[in-house]
Amino acid sequence: MLSACRQSVIVNFKRMIHQGSCVSGIIKDPHIEDFKVQNEPVLGYLPGSNERKELEKALKEVSSKTEDVPIIIGGQEYRTKDVRYQVMPHDHQKKIAQFYYATPDLVKKAIEVATETQKKWDSVPLEEKIKIWMKAADMMANKYRWKLNATTMLGQAKTIVQAEIDAAAELIDFIRLNAFFAKELTKYQPISEDPKITKNSMRYRGLEGFVAAVSPFNFTAIGGNLAYTPALMGSTTLWKPSDTALLSNYVIYQVMTEAGVPPGVVNFVPADGPVFGDNITASPHLAGINFTGSVPTFNRLWTQVGKNINSYKNFPRLIGECGGKNFHLVHSSADVTSVVNGTIRSAFEFCGQKCSACSRMYVPQSLWPKIKSGLLETRDKLKVSDVMEFDSFMSAVIDAKAFDRISGYIDHAKKSSNLEIIGGGQYDNSKGYFIQPTIVETKDPKDKIMTEEIFGPLLTIYAYPDNKVDEIISLVNTSTPYALTGAIFAQDQKWLHETTEKLKHAAGNFYINDKSTGSVVGQQPFGGARMSGTNDKAGGPHYVLRWASPQSIKETFVPLTEWKYPYMG
Ligand code: NAD
Repeated sequence: MLSACRQSVIVNFKRMIHQGSCVSGIIKDPHIEDFKVQNEPVLGYLPGSNERKELEKALKEVSSKTEDVPIIIGGQEYRTKDVRYQVMPHDHQKKIAQFYYATPDLVKKAIEVATETQKKWDSVPLEEKIKIWMKAADMMANKYRWKLNATTMLGQAKTIVQAEIDAAAELIDFIRLNAFFAKELTKYQPISEDPKITKNSMRYRGLEGFVAAVSPFNFTAIGGNLAYTPALMGSTTLWKPSDTALLSNYVIYQVMTEAGVPPGVVNFVPADGPVFGDNITASPHLAGINFTGSVPTFNRLWTQVGKNINSYKNFPRLIGECGGKNFHLVHSSADVTSVVNGTIRSAFEFCGQKCSACSRMYVPQSLWPKIKSGLLETRDKLKVSDVMEFDSFMSAVIDAKAFDRISGYIDHAKKSSNLEIIGGGQYDNSKGYFIQPTIVETKDPKDKIMTEEIFGPLLTIYAYPDNKVDEIISLVNTSTPYALTGAIFAQDQKWLHETTEKLKHAAGNFYINDKSTGSVVGQQPFGGARMSGTNDKAGGPHYVLRWASPQSIKETFVPLTEWKYPYMG
């Protein structure tokens, strides 16, 4: 006998399938066809403001308990014996969530449910899906904004502004703008020379099988995008959130469910990384992996897909947005104030744990004394503390593993004769995983500190002789395996133009007289090539297409009366 929950799911699917147009793929509802979108405003949280009061309330509530977060497959909750906790990085004795690792059998069950659900979900017209997404975006912008921000601040140690641009603005933009991009896609219809005789059309299907969405800790919004963009396009997903972004990601799941995403479309499956990876890549139903995280993890997943390639029903689509070693390259004509402020923000906001954070900088010797004193004076003013202290510029790094890795690079700087720590260098994990914003000057632009991804508040600068700028451009381009973000600073227009061309492949997101971080959905679609990923440009119109399988339909209205061709006569 069907449970009440499953019955209502089937009723839900039927209701949605019967609304709107599903065969043509063309959107008929004028409200959906015509809607326009804007980026979600970033709120200011000034003392006394309503948003600040609401956020303070949410922070109090989230920090006062340890929330229980189940595994959710097909709308059913599961709890296993493998209990884990998410702690506050800035106060690691405080647990904000208790969750459970899925067993291999549960991962397999989720695959089964997602694969079955995909057939029904695919029949729900795109316009019905868009309505759910628009409703969810509004709920995130209002009722749930505070909880999304509070769980991101406390769980991932983001300051107010960093949480707001991520868990509110960027997440809402992903949900709203992807719905907009999907709707715009349907406007392209192939040529029909005489529609009375033959009509050609194109519609978008989900990927048959299931998609695995594997998300990182550092952006709440990325989790929502990875799991729900394939779903928007008709696919179903297994979402494996990061252990250290668990609670904020669970809130996204809850909001999307409340907005109307039926059970089984997105399955929330916290798990040990390799257990999850091994099981999804072993399934013949794997239709795609939507991954954001480090290069070694993506390499492992890609290798496993390669090994199993003969067993799949489809060629799985692999999207991986990975690491970076992002640069600021300064020319002797640059505006020093912009360089200093842009670099401080890019290198140290959210402790340099943005994939786009500036980690290596090249400065002409003529400007180095001014830039150096600007950086050091500003660095001294940065407050590193609890996110609940609203004047903090940054807080703790995410976990013990990150703390050890980053402090290892600081120790390397302390020991190396080529490197000098000119600001910061202290770290302390007794209460939280705190690392002071650290600035290093190097004599060797190829030291590992200048070429490996560190993912922490550590900036290294090489001061180059002004007349060697061309060699430096070539070094910037070739000394790391990455090509995610990069910025050049100059007032000399000719140099800017030429350098933009020389560095064409050095970054997927390239900035001129602006810092290397801060891309906005719909404004700077994001992603890099080389070892930084498959460059599918999340936050842009091309991305949604990656999660759809288009179908061309030719429909003929007149009978075919002849098999011979005229020339044969
Ligand atoms: P990570 O690779 O450690 O983890 C990413 C996700 O993969 C997590 O959910 C993790 O549990 C999971 N995982 C680990 N091993 C797995 C396996 N064998 N199979 C399946 N899943 C597995 O990365 P992280 O520390 O969470 O994130 C930081 C990295 O992400 C940095 O390298 C950063 O540059 C990158 N990043 C890139 C972008 C981008 O758009 N290019 C955006 C954000 C973060």
